[in-house]
Amino acid sequence: AELLRLEGVHTHIGQYHILQGVDLVVPEGELTMLLGRNGAGKTTTLRTIMGMWRASAGELGLAGTDLRPLATPDIARLGVGYVPENMGVFAALTVRENMLLAARDGAMDESRLEWIFSLFPALKKFWGLPAGNLSGGQKQMLSIARAMIEPRRLILIDEPSKGLAPAIVDALIEAMRELKRTATTILMVEQNFRMAQALGDGVAVMDDGRVVHAGRMAELAADPALQARLLGLSLGAHQ
Ligand code: ADP
Ligand code: MG
Ligand code: MG
Repeated sequence: AELLRLEGVHTHIGQYHILQGVDLVVPEGELTMLLGRNGAGKTTTLRTIMGMWRASAGELGLAGTDLRPLATPDIARLGVGYVPENMGVFAALTVRENMLLAARDGAMDESRLEWIFSLFPALKKFWGLPAGNLSGGQKQMLSIARAMIEPRRLILIDEPSKGLAPAIVDALIEAMRELKRTATTILMVEQNFRMAQALGDGVAVMDDGRVVHAGRMAELAADPALQARLLGLSLGAHQ
């Protein structure tokens, strides 16, 4: 079943017409990768889904609920989590306290916390340390882990691999694979094709404020000519 559907979504930011008719379907229980060059409109799409930018036209629905009239907190209350690019952590608070802040009503399900820590062994190891002491990759993992402390119907994640060393990207892929086993629905923006290939079930590619390709990730991964045309990746040369 489809969980999220965007049909002909337009978004203006000030005088700029950024999203110019985005069509996108995110099936329940899948990880859908949103790819595209810098400036294609990926982040704007996530922010429009979250109600942080208002869609000026089109349809935006979560399991039949029209999201367009709703404010961001109401969309979050429907079970949509958002991990922005370079979200950051509360440096002076411990890893555990950072998790607690993300828990509804300040009450944390300890067995769920244990499960999340099992996905991110480094966070488990350093749970009592100030988050400011973590490495960049560990901070990124903490920002993703925070979005998981409450069960979500849909998690939007913007470029989690950005700025991470390749070894950390591997650890992130492993953690995201575990998250996928819980059948959480995820819409993830990426520029790292290795990450996209490892995790994507479906894929949508944006260019110039529109989705210009939608299909299965495995098919795009197997088609270097299509990658070159859609993403400008050089034939067979991506990492
Ligand atoms: P992506 O995430 O795919 O790199 P974005 O959604 O961030 O792309 O940006 C899409 C386009 O919208 C870009 O041309 C960008 O310059 C523009 N844009 C994004 N945010 C703003 C803003 N706050 N004000 C004006 N233009 C913006
Ligand atoms: Mg960008
Ligand atoms: Mg972006």
